[in-house]
Amino acid sequence: MNGRCGGEPELGPRTLLRPDEPPALERVNPAGGTHAVLVCDHASNRIPARLGALGLEPGRLQEHIAWDPGAAEVARHLAAELDAPLLLSGYSRLVIDCNRPLGHADSMAERSAGVAIPGNRRLSPAARARRVEALFRPYHAAIAELLDARSRQPTALISVHSFSSVLNGRQRPWQIGISHWRDRRLADLLLGALGRLGTFALGDNAPYPIEADIDYTIPAHGGARGLPAVMIEIRQDELRTPAGAAAWAARLAAAYRLIEGEIPQLCGHPLGDEPAGRPC
Ligand SMILES: [Zn+2]
Repeated sequence: MNGRCGGEPELGPRTLLRPDEPPALERVNPAGGTHAVLVCDHASNRIPARLGALGLEPGRLQEHIAWDPGAAEVARHLAAELDAPLLLSGYSRLVIDCNRPLGHADSMAERSAGVAIPGNRRLSPAARARRVEALFRPYHAAIAELLDARSRQPTALISVHSFSSVLNGRQRPWQIGISHWRDRRLADLLLGALGRLGTFALGDNAPYPIEADIDYTIPAHGGARGLPAVMIEIRQDELRTPAGAAAWAARLAAAYRLIEGEIPQLCGHPLGDEPAGRPC
């Protein structure tokens, strides 16, 4: 135990994961042929064995503070239905949140939703660097590699999340939300397509808008490449059962198919001097 800086033993930079543990990410259907690339930043509640349970009661790891319940199931179904590649983060957001910029207070949160995370208290620079190198960098390098390999074909980046059904004692109104960063055209198309498929309580850039100082995946990979990109958030009570997750994946697949033909026109140039989303 490192008595100087919190609850992690001092280990070398590459020794966070044991050889018998899963890698930092999982690749599903990497050669998928559709325009969509799916990612799931909060797919898993697994903690590396060397970190114990981060000092938490084991039941806490089933809660939303540790992952997005149901999101991985939706993403896997969607990857299969669309023939899309999917990358899933292999470890809990409590170890390092793959959708937070490095240095953000919630990157390795000392508290999450009011719950103290003892294993994240006063982490040493070495402990932080170990998590970055073992988990964050491999996951994002895999996304970058996949997108780079598709640089000559139309690609839309879609991240799949779930959000807690109740906040501050109140049921949240949206069943599903589609959030965008600077270019809202893909979000508008998907919201319109979902509206054509049924009567759903849709969040337009809600429950969470994408902001570059809070979110990492969509700005860093989608915005930087000028790709159409959205973050999909599904309310967790919709995903309590396997059938619920499958149903939302089927709806999303149907919505995607309605607008897939428009994706090539959304491809553009990296944000900067060029106007975002200019047709390629
Ligand atoms: Zn999430």
